Amino acid sequence: MSKSAEWDLIVVGAGAAGIGAGLAARAAGLKTQILEAADRIGGRAHTVRERGIAYDLGCHFLHSASRNPFSLAALTRGETIRMHGTQGAFPPALYRDGVRQDEETRAACGRYYAECYQRSLAVQADVSVAAAIDGQSPFRDIYTGWCGAIVGVPPERISTEDVKAYAETGEDWPVRDGYGALIAGLADGLPIRTGCPVSAIDRTGETVRVETPDGTLTARAVIVTVSPDVLRSGSIRFTPDLPDSVRAALEDVRLGFAERVALFTDGPVMDPPVIAHIMPRAGHMIGVNFHEFGQNTIGGYLAGDLAVDLARDGGRAALIDYTLDAVVEILGSGLRGKILGAISSCWSTDPNILGGYSAALPGRHAARAALREPFDDRLALAGEACSPDAFSTAHGAYITGTHAVSRMLQGGLRASRD
Ligand SMILES: Cc1cc2nc3c(=O)[nH]c(=O)nc-3n(C[C@H](O)[C@H](O)[C@H](O)COP(=O)(O)OP(=O)(O)OC[C@H]3O[C@@H](n4cnc5c(N)ncnc54)[C@H](O)[C@@H]3O)c2cc1C
Repeated sequence: MSKSAEWDLIVVGAGAAGIGAGLAARAAGLKTQILEAADRIGGRAHTVRERGIAYDLGCHFLHSASRNPFSLAALTRGETIRMHGTQGAFPPALYRDGVRQDEETRAACGRYYAECYQRSLAVQADVSVAAAIDGQSPFRDIYTGWCGAIVGVPPERISTEDVKAYAETGEDWPVRDGYGALIAGLADGLPIRTGCPVSAIDRTGETVRVETPDGTLTARAVIVTVSPDVLRSGSIRFTPDLPDSVRAALEDVRLGFAERVALFTDGPVMDPPVIAHIMPRAGHMIGVNFHEFGQNTIGGYLAGDLAVDLARDGGRAALIDYTLDAVVEILGSGLRGKILGAISSCWSTDPNILGGYSAALPGRHAARAALREPFDDRLALAGEACSPDAFSTAHGAYITGTHAVSRMLQGGLRASRD
């Protein structure tokens, strides 16, 4: 490790992984600088406050809540998290072509989802989920939409080994005051420079040189936490280049797509409120959460190919319109007059993110290991895509950031004395 650098550690990206790395580096006494391209911190953890309501445009549920390192922070700030029990019948209210399906149909759909999961677990090779499941089911199209929401891609592009590796407890608890705000709050006091995109990382010299619009910074070590699609886009130039194994892995682990929309209502529009899976005539499933926490909101979750097509073609307006049209199809056109405003994410086209969360291609699950495999004790990758068992989540990202710092400490990085 070099000794003459300005910084012990530079962390690229201030999402959940970058914040995890920053907190671990602070605990280790490392002189650290976190560089963030956007003008805010959090990355895909982003809570906006609109009409007095905290609304998450990215992560919102504490997955595996009883094991999730963010749960303690949520409880400490007064969130009520139900640690045990289930979320109730699944899938929730099911609508097709504007009509709510009866209980028997909903239950049959739930059995199909469960069967698909079991078949994906049982298959011995790393194949696509589509190859493992019964493709003739009348619920196959809804299941495709459901996979989009969970994985960001359709069953044809989900690896069964990814399904097996993902560890979950079944506790998915929403954070009322915003998961994004919770994560950003943990970064209080961390040395983060926003609006500072890193364009190049050169580790040919005695110190690692990091190019930014503010000039060149030098560090003894660097952790890069940007999404795999941002890495693949080439917006950061590496000298020497990332190893072939990592380059290949970036082709195999790609972000799927997910977008969140909020429609703000002038009062209750669904009584009692439900969570619904809506299969509109237009043919793509969207998840809709009416009046979460009793608020005047209709939350829309658009994912997979639907989300990316809308985002690329028409941006936020298209995502909002699709959500509103789907809800109008079940509640009638009178709903339009009750909508006071709307907001939407557009992760798919954000050049600093480029999607929702990562999915390994069928047959390519092992690429995740290649992403986290150490290749240089002065440079490490972190972020949700690198997690062995909690990829696609905020807590998984956070843990990879802390692990990257641990590995650097194991490799000899120590706090400089000056
Ligand atoms: C719609 C949606 C819903 C989700 N729901 C949940 C959920 O309910 N629960 C859950 O656990 N997870 C959820 N997730 C996933 C979760 O948000 C992500 O897995 C997690 O936040 C990723 O964190 P990260 O640090 O790995 O990456 P990111 O959040 O992408 O952080 C990387 C950071 O790097 C920055 N950056 C990019 N390029 C540069 C550069 N050149 N220089 C400097 N900085 C750069 C980016 O701006 C970004 O801030 C959701 C995601 C989406 C999109």
